[in-house]
Amino acid sequence: MTFSELGLIEPIIKAVTELGYENPTPIQAEAIPYVLNNNTDLVGLAQTGTGKTAAFGLPILNSIDLDNRSTQALIIAPTRELGVQIANDLNKFGKYMRGLNIVTVYGGASIMTQIKDISRGAQIIVATPGRMMDLLERGKVKVNEIKFLVLDEADEMLNMGFKEDIDTILKTTPKEKQTLLFSATMPSEVRRIANQYMHEPHEIAVAKQSQSAENIIHQYYEVHERDRYLALKRIIDYNPSIFGIIFCRTRHETQDIAEKLIKDGYNADALHGDLSQAQRDSVMKRYRSRTLQLLVATDVAARGIDVNEVTHVLNYNLPDDVEVYTHRSGRTARAGKHGVSLILVNTREFSRIRQIEKMIGKQFIKGTIPHGFEVCEKQLIHLVNKVHDIAVSEDEIAPYLPVANELFAEMSKEDVIKHFLSVEFNRFLEYYRNAVDLNQGAKRTAGDREHGKTLNLSNSGTQRMFINVGTTDGFDDNQLADYIGDVAKIAPSQIRQLSVRDKFSFFNVDAAHADPILTNFKKEKLNNRPIRVDVTEDRGHGGGGGGGERRSGGERQGGGERRSGGGGGSSYRGGSSNGGGSSRSSSSRRDGGGSGYGGGSSSSSSSASTGEKRRKKY
Ligand code: AMP
Repeated sequence: MTFSELGLIEPIIKAVTELGYENPTPIQAEAIPYVLNNNTDLVGLAQTGTGKTAAFGLPILNSIDLDNRSTQALIIAPTRELGVQIANDLNKFGKYMRGLNIVTVYGGASIMTQIKDISRGAQIIVATPGRMMDLLERGKVKVNEIKFLVLDEADEMLNMGFKEDIDTILKTTPKEKQTLLFSATMPSEVRRIANQYMHEPHEIAVAKQSQSAENIIHQYYEVHERDRYLALKRIIDYNPSIFGIIFCRTRHETQDIAEKLIKDGYNADALHGDLSQAQRDSVMKRYRSRTLQLLVATDVAARGIDVNEVTHVLNYNLPDDVEVYTHRSGRTARAGKHGVSLILVNTREFSRIRQIEKMIGKQFIKGTIPHGFEVCEKQLIHLVNKVHDIAVSEDEIAPYLPVANELFAEMSKEDVIKHFLSVEFNRFLEYYRNAVDLNQGAKRTAGDREHGKTLNLSNSGTQRMFINVGTTDGFDDNQLADYIGDVAKIAPSQIRQLSVRDKFSFFNVDAAHADPILTNFKKEKLNNRPIRVDVTEDRGHGGGGGGGERRSGGERQGGGERRSGGGGGSSYRGGSSNGGGSSRSSSSRRDGGGSGYGGGSSSSSSSASTGEKRRKKY
């Protein structure tokens, strides 16, 4: 089915086509014709990521009388972020509708300005419940001509305590309006609203495993409670191109983890309700523009975040309510992309994984926290690729080259490469030299540590494999791990020690994974080319390095070594206590950030976006 077949007017179809929407998503295919052809109410059980904004937005826009400046549609959303997002989407959909005026109103910003905007004539108002109530009480918004009322993320608005406001808004608006209620879940309170205020609503449920949910790999890592933070850092370090959201349970924990990460040199910041609106805006702006790599957030603050490129959702702690997990994981794998949602659990929490599995109808894959040497190797390969792919500012660097050339004149090319890489590599090598196995149940006895037993790098039980794709197919190591994991149906983190060459690559997996990989790749084609995977004679190389398993002097628990480069040190900390960071310039961030080791944030984000382009190829 196409958008033209749904009965929408030409200017809308033109805008949607320009946005690259080819076919309606399931909820759009059902909701759009329904709203266009009926004036009875609608309940849509759907999460963000299903295309629900267009599902209600397009038919509403279709019905707006552009010659009439009065308010014809009111859309209520739980947070400012979501409200702004909805208005942005509607403006894009209505790009070719001359005379369309959409106004967004929310708390924490000047109500006078918003009143002025409304008084100019807003056919559509997008509002948060509290601010809408304010405007109604002041008599500054006329609702008597409202034809549509949308309650978006209804369950979340009720969770946030907007019950009375919602009731009042429903009561104050004309009886004849068409109410469209969207909710990811249907708790009794939402059901009550539907029963009390809606007239025999038509219900549409989009299957939980929506298009985007299928692209999410759910993983869990079992750790000792005391290692939770270290495990988080290790996972981040193992994914140098990560662009993630770390979910915590409370505002306090959110702030605490963000501060620790910042102190440890990561490009992270907090988003929670204790921050001022300006601080939250600043954090979101940096995250959206990818100047910020890791967003540490509470559930409420992260509602409505619509950033398509999120690669990982990291559940630092499980939500109290398992249903919230769906909201969290839905922040990744958006708009047809792939993503990972992972959970750190201690043994006592393990049963909750089973609960979540039942709810989402999908199984979790048990992840293994990478060893220190695996992180080092991953970072080194990332660094090599970064150095190889970096754009050189020929003109600007030219004056400095003679001095450098003279200095390196005596060195072989191999030595120069070694020296350049060591500038960054030594740091994480040093950090991980004494790293212990963080996996729950892993052997980590005092005796081992005292005797400085070396890590086992022999890789028994590991199989090295070959695949006939490489950088010319647009892959870097992360993309290739994602791709292999995707086809072989195993977690990308299981694809280790990748060596990506131009036309082929090698990687290690646990020997048990070798056969399933061979089987799943049998019919695999990439751009119509058969993909060949094979086992190699080499039983897996060790990756070098790795040191004693002594913990002392090993992984930093905050403080410790600071990254080099610009504002990584104290300038970071100056702003981190308020979490908002408006005092910190994004450029100091850029210089000083990074995934803990191996690369500054600018490189990480640029390589992530390059990766994005590459991923599109397959
Ligand atoms: P939503 O559930 O409204 O938050 O939409 C999720 C994402 O899917 C947004 O980035 C939309 O731009 C995108 N999207 C919505 N509808 C379509 C469609 N029919 N085709 C492709 N992308 C879409």
